[in-house]
Order: sequence, then C-alpha cells, then structure tokens
Amino acid sequence: MSNKRPLNVEIKKINKTNIYQRFLSGGMLTRQELAADLQLCIPTVAKNIDELLDAGLIAQSGSRGNTGGRNAVAYSLVSNARAAIGIEITSNHISMAALDLLGNIVTTSRVRAAFSSSEAYYKNLGSLFRELVEKAGLTGEQILGVGVGLPALVDIDRRTILFSKIIDLESNVYEQISAHIPYRVELFNDANAAAYTEIWKDPDRRNAFYLMLSNNIGGCFVLDDTVYPGATQKAGEVGHMTLIPDGQKCYCGQKGCVENYLTAENLSSLAEGSLQDFFAGLENGNREFVRAWDKYLGYLALTVNTVHALLDCDIVLGGYVGGYLDAYLEDLRERVAALNSFGDGGGYLRTCVYKKTAIASGAALNFIAAFNAEI
Ligand SMILES: [Zn+2]
Repeated sequence: MSNKRPLNVEIKKINKTNIYQRFLSGGMLTRQELAADLQLCIPTVAKNIDELLDAGLIAQSGSRGNTGGRNAVAYSLVSNARAAIGIEITSNHISMAALDLLGNIVTTSRVRAAFSSSEAYYKNLGSLFRELVEKAGLTGEQILGVGVGLPALVDIDRRTILFSKIIDLESNVYEQISAHIPYRVELFNDANAAAYTEIWKDPDRRNAFYLMLSNNIGGCFVLDDTVYPGATQKAGEVGHMTLIPDGQKCYCGQKGCVENYLTAENLSSLAEGSLQDFFAGLENGNREFVRAWDKYLGYLALTVNTVHALLDCDIVLGGYVGGYLDAYLEDLRERVAALNSFGDGGGYLRTCVYKKTAIASGAALNFIAAFNAEI
C-alpha cells in the first residue's frame, strides 16, 4: 500500500508550510501581503491563518492601514509558542539554554558541577533543568525536547554512547538522564551540536568544518547543510590525528594527538585555570603567555592546514578558544597561508558566531528545526 498522500493534501501542506516559513522570517504580515507574496488566493491564506492561530503559533499583532478601506489585520509568529532545551555536560560544568522557535536564546544557566556517573549527579541535573524551565517561564506543553551535548561519540539512535573517555559515561546514560528529565531526550556529540548552531546562524554556508577548541578537541564536517557522521559516527575526530609522531601521551592510548597540543587547558593552566585571565594577560604582553600562545597558534595552523588540504572548505574555529580568536585571526591566517602548498591565503578561516552555549544551543536547535519543518 502506498503511503503517499493525495496531491491536494500535499499542496495544502505546502501552502501551510510556506505561510509558516514567511512568519519565521520575521515581521508582521497581513493576509493580503501573504496572498501577494506566495501567489495564493485570500480564502486559502485565511484558512491557513486560522489554523496557525488555533495552534497558537501566530497571533494578531497589529493592523496595517490601506488606502480608502478598513485597516488590514497583521499577524506575527508567537516565537515562544514552543521551545527546546539544550544541555552541555562537561567534566566540570553543566550549561543549559532554552531556545524559542526562531532559535533565539531565551535563557541560559551554567554551574560548576564535577561529572560523576551517580544518582546524585543526575538528580542535580534534573533540578537544574527544572530551575531553567521555571526561569524561562515555560510550561511542559511548550517543550519540544531536550538535547544533551556530551564529550562522547553518540550512535545514530541518539541514545547509545559509542566512545567516552573524557567523562566516564555509563552505557545507560540515556536512561539515567531520562529518569530526571521527563521529556523527549536526545544525546549529541558536543562538536556536532556546536557545528549545527553555526549552520543555523549562517544559512549561506552549506559546507564547512567546525573545529572545537575547548578542553577537549572535536570536529564536525558539515556537507550540504548536514552533519556528515561517517560510516561509524567518528567523522571529524580531528583531536586524535597525530600532530607530533611519538609525542605526548593522549588519553585515547595513542601518542602525539592534536588533542594534547590544542586543549584550552594548555593556556588556562597558565592563568590559574581561567582562559579569560590568560587572554587578558596575553593582551598585556605577559611574556610566558605570549610564548605559549605563539606555540599554540603554530600547532593550530598545522592542524587547520591539514584539515583544509583534505576538505577544501571554510573552517570555523569554535569552542572555548574560538571565542577569543577574533583578535588573532589575521595572525593565524598568515601562518596557514605560509603552510599552504598551492599559494592559497587563509581566507577560509572563520571564527564562531556563538561564543558561548554553542553546544547546548545546537542540541536544542535540532528539535526546533524538526518542528518548524513539520508545519
Ligand atoms: Zn588521542
């Protein structure tokens, strides 16, 4: 039996989708404007407007004067009609963000919490989640889902952990989280979630490699607007490319991995654990910091040059260090240009748009995108 819908049902769906998409683009719209924009008749627009009003996704937001006749009613998106929550779990912190239907951050939270695979930890996670929901003023019906970004490889089912050595996740982590967060929960690799945020913010960028420079190093290749997972969900794991043969021992068991040379901790550890203090000291010319930064940029240029040689696409620098790279981008571009075999410049390098909460936001945006695409 065919599961295809009849053609008129498809057309009705397309009309509704197109009208909703216009509201997502922002601003107030009248029936007349929508009809003209989308080349639809007024009754079709009116019927869809009524459906979107009934669903609470748009609301009357004003009126527009038109010459000689009555004012036309204008409608706008109710951006907080639905929301999604994103959570980032790292070794020492829990960050959360609530996002509305436009992908705007409604509220965030970040607390220090050392990870442990214990009932107490997940209980705390649950109460932090409830606090965030309350702070955002959300009701249960509004919440589309909860995405959790982890420093781990996650299977395509978004529940199963394939590899996790940075934090000691147990195989039942999905169940442990779900026991305290009674919504649809999905797990994401941290770099993949962050990369998704950058695609969302820049719809013109269809192909890019996202390099996450945090305490751990991750990467994600976005091909045609889609995260490319690889055959076994391990694509983009740039942190474990060998940078220095027989170099420093990596937690993965190998030696000389990129991870050891680009971890943000190499910088923050010089400033009592504060990356912010490191960059402040660097700006003030602290000699030790200048030396460490020069070394770091050298390793970063080597890594970036290798990734670019393979993929030949824009590279977005994100993560903790990426948030501070704007002021040093030209320096880095010169370094990668000097390494390039084809005389290319470093114009393909970009810094991230989301300086903070990229992982939590990306984990939430997956639910927003899926909801918006379904209307
Ligand atoms: Zn490694």
